[in-house]
Amino acid sequence: MSNRRNIYFFHPKNKEMNAIVKPLQELAIQYDFTIVNHFDQANIIVSIGGDGAFLQAVRQSGFRDDCLYAGVSTSDQLSFYCDFHIDQTEKMVEAITTENVEVRRFPVLETQVDQGPVFYCLNECLIRSAVIKTFTMDVYINKNHFETFRGDGMIISTPTGSTAYNKSVNGAVVDPLISCMQVSELASLNNNNYRTLGSSFILSAEHTLTLKLSNNNSHYPVIGIDNEALGIQHVDQVQIRLSDRQIKTVKLKDNSFWQRVQRTFL
Ligand code: NAP
Ligand code: MN
Repeated sequence: MSNRRNIYFFHPKNKEMNAIVKPLQELAIQYDFTIVNHFDQANIIVSIGGDGAFLQAVRQSGFRDDCLYAGVSTSDQLSFYCDFHIDQTEKMVEAITTENVEVRRFPVLETQVDQGPVFYCLNECLIRSAVIKTFTMDVYINKNHFETFRGDGMIISTPTGSTAYNKSVNGAVVDPLISCMQVSELASLNNNNYRTLGSSFILSAEHTLTLKLSNNNSHYPVIGIDNEALGIQHVDQVQIRLSDRQIKTVKLKDNSFWQRVQRTFL
């Protein structure tokens, strides 16, 4: 980390959190880092909290691909995006004093609603009915109609997001070295009129998924990007593809993706 010395600590600015973060700030200064007051000036962005805090740090700083992100967990367990625990300062010192740290790159999704702006997702994009009735959408892979979905909604997950919401609906856990997105159903209605694949499927970076909402009352879904809801009222279609951008984090030994999966779930 020799020439990346501007560090930004991302955390709620309250008395309790300030006290928790203070030892980390002192450690950073001791090792010749400069603490900056805005993430725009940083080349290292450190989130304090859990996975939720990491997702917010990445989102609010604009999914930058020219800086390193690091997650510091404040709970008993290390979270999925957190390589460090707030009390394990020796691990942090090891990382910041290592000349050539290994970097992990995580795939990111791009979501576009109608002709609107692109939103990035590190975990997943969720499209879900906002009303009690089912909602219907036509699912296209590139220009080809694939299926007509009717049910609660769909989750389109990144590999790192595959251990989150996607896993709760029996999606597969995917190695983040594979640039892909996984499509999982939420309570699809299957009968002689509506037929969906029924299992999760995984698309390569070559493909674009388009969800066209039908003309009935289904124009008002809930659209979630990671831990935020998009406040969009009327939706005709949603396009989702892999982004060229990737999120970089520090890679520590004994903390590979599959070691985390084992530690967390087995
Ligand atoms: P939250 O509702 O406070 O937490 C959801 C839980 O998921 C937390 O334990 C969180 O870890 C964990 N988590 C987040 N990202 C993960 C990942 N990539 N792999 C494994 N676990 C992960 O919300 P949040 O903390 O802001 O996290 C947002 C995420 O929650 C969403 O992106 C979605 O994936 C997930 N979610 C899951 C369900 C479900 O499984 N039924 C429903 C809604 C949302 P921390 O405690 O370390 O933050
Ligand atoms: Mn959380």
